Amino acid sequence: MNSPEGARTWPRWRGLAWVLLAIWILAATTAPAPAAESEAPLRLGLPVNCRLGEDCFVQQMPDIDPSEQALDPLCGRATYQGHDGWDIRVRSLKDVDRPSPVIAIAEGTVARTRDGVPDRIYDRVQDGDLKGKECGNGVVVEHAGGLVSQYCHLKEGSIAVRPGTRVGKGDSLGSIGASGLAEFPHVHLSVRRDGQRLEPLTGRLLDAAGEQCGDTTRSLFEPSVRDALTRSTSAILLIGLTNAPPESSSLVRSGDPPVPTISEPVIAWVWAINVEPESLFRMRLVDPDRKTILNFETKSLEGRKATYVAYVGGKHALREGSYRLQVDLVSDGQNVRSTVRSIFIGP
Ligand SMILES: [Zn+2]
Repeated sequence: MNSPEGARTWPRWRGLAWVLLAIWILAATTAPAPAAESEAPLRLGLPVNCRLGEDCFVQQMPDIDPSEQALDPLCGRATYQGHDGWDIRVRSLKDVDRPSPVIAIAEGTVARTRDGVPDRIYDRVQDGDLKGKECGNGVVVEHAGGLVSQYCHLKEGSIAVRPGTRVGKGDSLGSIGASGLAEFPHVHLSVRRDGQRLEPLTGRLLDAAGEQCGDTTRSLFEPSVRDALTRSTSAILLIGLTNAPPESSSLVRSGDPPVPTISEPVIAWVWAINVEPESLFRMRLVDPDRKTILNFETKSLEGRKATYVAYVGGKHALREGSYRLQVDLVSDGQNVRSTVRSIFIGP
């Protein structure tokens, strides 16, 4: 304000400001610290009760790069533009049939829930019928210190809490499903503090975490969870023998395809996620006499694959008996994952 009147009032206003400042300093030195700051920092747990890397898997992380690029908190590409949560998946809709509990990452109070959205896999162009329900069946929990956690895509009919329910860390909220906009069955965990999106592994605001990828020193997760989430997300989901080339869209719906009979052609296959460029798969099949009848190496991948299916087949059928299939994921010449399965081929 530049008016002469404004200039005249300035000295009096300044005096008042000093008085206010003195009162504020007095208040700041005598008032107790806010409750949130006096509490121990939250140590967040996983949002699922499952064995990570064995029966559940990190498929995608938040995108911490505010630009057009997508970058995950570990400086990798296990994310996509604008994704704001951690996606922990089970293999297929078959796994949704048995409960995989979604659990509270810390104690708190349930603020909101939604149920009634069917579980289905979306892997094609959408018709918009999910507008506003992309999260599917979900739960929102409020914790100490202005922290809020949200859990999406729960199984229809599985929500075990209601608004106002007090939950402890690890308490069940529902079960993993594929409700809402889900390309695979999973729980999407997102975290906010005071309304701002937070990346819990780096402990930084989501849109400001880009330059801090790989730094988990301020992680909000408890150390064992932080360590588990810091490991590579490359995983072999399933391997097997079947009678026709398997497709990822049917694997995610129906799980394991049928095993061939002795009169059918045999195809050895592997279904994997987050496969890095220049990786390859080695597939080895051993017959009931322990003789190696297949030793195959896929071509090394040019680009990264969020989900990947590789297979090799022979026209001739196998004889009855128990076979042993081993598939290795090889990266930089090293076996980074290995899975073995015994399969009986019958009449
Ligand atoms: Zn997600």
